[in-house]
Amino acid sequence: MNVNLTQSCEENMLIKTPFPTFALNQNGQVIIWNPACEQYFGYTKQDFQSTDSLKDQLFSTLTENEWQRILNAQEYIRINNIQLIHKNETLSKANFIIIPCLINNEHSIIFYCLPQEDFFTIGETEQELLDLKNGLLSTFMTVTLDHEGFIISCNPLFLKTSKWTPKRVLRKSFWQLFPEDEESQQIADTIWNTISKGKIWKGDVQKKKKTGETYWVHLTAIPTSSPNEDDFHYFLIEQDITNEKEMQQKLEKIAYIDAETGLMNVHRLESIVKEMIEEKQNFYFVYLSIDKFYTLKELHNMEVENNFILEFTKRLKIYFQDSVLARVNESDFVVITPLGEWFIQEFLSYLKQNPIYIGHRAMPITVSGGITRSPQDQSNFTQLMNASLLIISEVRQAGGDNILSLSESTHKKLNRKSMIEKRLLLALDQRNLKVLYQPQVDLKTGKIYAVEAFVRWEDEEIGVVNPDELIPIAEESGLINNIGSFMIEEACKQAAEWLRQGLELKVGINMSVREFRDKNMAKFILDTLVKTGCPAHLIQLEITEKFALEAEAETSIIQQMRTLEEQGITFVLDDFGTGYASFRYMQLLPIQILKIDQMYIQSLTKSEKTQRLINGIVHFGKSMNLTVLAEGVETEEQKQLLEQYNCDAIQGYLISKPVTADKISKLLTN
Ligand code: C2E
Ligand code: CA
Ligand code: CA
Repeated sequence: MNVNLTQSCEENMLIKTPFPTFALNQNGQVIIWNPACEQYFGYTKQDFQSTDSLKDQLFSTLTENEWQRILNAQEYIRINNIQLIHKNETLSKANFIIIPCLINNEHSIIFYCLPQEDFFTIGETEQELLDLKNGLLSTFMTVTLDHEGFIISCNPLFLKTSKWTPKRVLRKSFWQLFPEDEESQQIADTIWNTISKGKIWKGDVQKKKKTGETYWVHLTAIPTSSPNEDDFHYFLIEQDITNEKEMQQKLEKIAYIDAETGLMNVHRLESIVKEMIEEKQNFYFVYLSIDKFYTLKELHNMEVENNFILEFTKRLKIYFQDSVLARVNESDFVVITPLGEWFIQEFLSYLKQNPIYIGHRAMPITVSGGITRSPQDQSNFTQLMNASLLIISEVRQAGGDNILSLSESTHKKLNRKSMIEKRLLLALDQRNLKVLYQPQVDLKTGKIYAVEAFVRWEDEEIGVVNPDELIPIAEESGLINNIGSFMIEEACKQAAEWLRQGLELKVGINMSVREFRDKNMAKFILDTLVKTGCPAHLIQLEITEKFALEAEAETSIIQQMRTLEEQGITFVLDDFGTGYASFRYMQLLPIQILKIDQMYIQSLTKSEKTQRLINGIVHFGKSMNLTVLAEGVETEEQKQLLEQYNCDAIQGYLISKPVTADKISKLLTN
């Protein structure tokens, strides 16, 4: 080694340097390895016994040329960014100052290590943190703020996206990163207020580039430590989501516009109506439905149909200027307008004066419409839609071609319905419904062997609500599931109670198909049996033909029915003969009892034809191995005929009206 620099160096001084320092002799062997080296690199001097072992370990990322250049250095050299491999195989980077000199009069080379920023903290977890930081910086934009909201640093990705230059952004205020409009500045205030309280803020915000253009970011703003500390910082991590936002806006536009007419669709209409209601605006909600649109469709091709709708839209736009127009259905439109009723109704005359032509022929076109006022008539979107449909069905029943306002009677119907829904919810909550039971008698033994449970409801405000009114409303609103679970619980409890009294009575429960759409229905019933201590064979579930018809198409309903049957529950086909009578589902569904509808029983003694029919039904049921039951039996005469036909059981006023559970106990024990 040719050393010009004959400076000599104290071994002791090198050892005491607080940062990693070491020295090699001219053979490349480690002669000094200070404690800082041990601490940071993990190696001890013993790890470098042989020549070149330093090069093979700590410096293994250097090329042979680079290494030779170091060993042959004639004067001070500095090498930056050397990738080092620590004893525990973690990596770090450092800059080195390399100085040839004399140590104990020997030519040597000293290495002063100038660790980079992260160097002193490097360890396994630290390496992970470092990787995380590097990953973060290359994927996200980052900005650091001081405790007053001044920008103290940012990463290259931020500069690239925002086009800000360091000069224009560093030491400048955080608020400058947001557009100047009031809304954006308020959002900036909110972010600042949140983080300055030591909390994290997260959300999508619009920011401003140096050019004034805006861009969208998903921003997470994090306070770095507790607010009491002096060097308190905030860290903004941002991801550019401008493309996603633009796509979303496009999609929203598509989702809110009717492609064929360019009018808004029902979703957009709904949000506009909601806003208007919130702002307490007065308006007419006009629903217009083209009469007999289906015939028009059948008679003509698509193109004619499209043209027709476009022409109709044009007329709406001309007539209802300055109104909100929406297409809510193929042939249904809604107009929101402040214009009066008389003007709205005159639209029909306008249509007649301005007919739509197909070819050279004017198309005869009529419209049925309903006018509802908000807030006077109805106070939310669903109510406005429901009221409109009710008016239109009444207009159509009267022949169509008319636009009517919500009449007193329609209004009452709607009010009662919404009242029932509201009060029913309360009644269910307070378990205010009652159950009555009607006995069924076995015609062979003459004994009561079963009862059917019916729901009864008398509300303090609306009075008695019959099942015929209640059940359809409950089905529409979904409350039927709540009624169903109430009835199942009560019926099982009662059957178990009778059993304790020594009365083995089967209890029938009426089921709606909607209840069985709940995938947990079977489980709920079986759980209730266990909970109430009711044996499964005491429960009979009554389903209607309509239920059967729908169940046929839904395997999950059939499966649930089978599960229940396997556990011993019986299924009754109620109202048999009222409409859909299909023998297919009788084979598909686990039905054991056939209940002949009361309509037939009522005409039994009056018509010979009915007698033959019922006789036939009983025979048919028997041949299918089913128990046949007749309901609505009111007279002795009816009973005798049914006995003649070999019917198994009867139910009806002749035996008893539906009564309370106590009365049933008395009937049986007397
Ligand atoms: P349904 O299941 O066909 O019940 C027979 C209806 O006829 C009951 O009316 C019963 O009180 C009545 N009835 C019984 N015997 C006679 C008689 O001899 N003559 C006459 N004229 N009528 C008789 P209700 O209780 O008003 O129930 C009407 C319908 O409402 C029931 O028809 C059933 O479909 C439904 N329903 C009743 N309770 C429930 C329930 O808890 N859940 C479900 N889903 N539906 C129920
Ligand atoms: Ca029934
Ligand atoms: Ca029935």
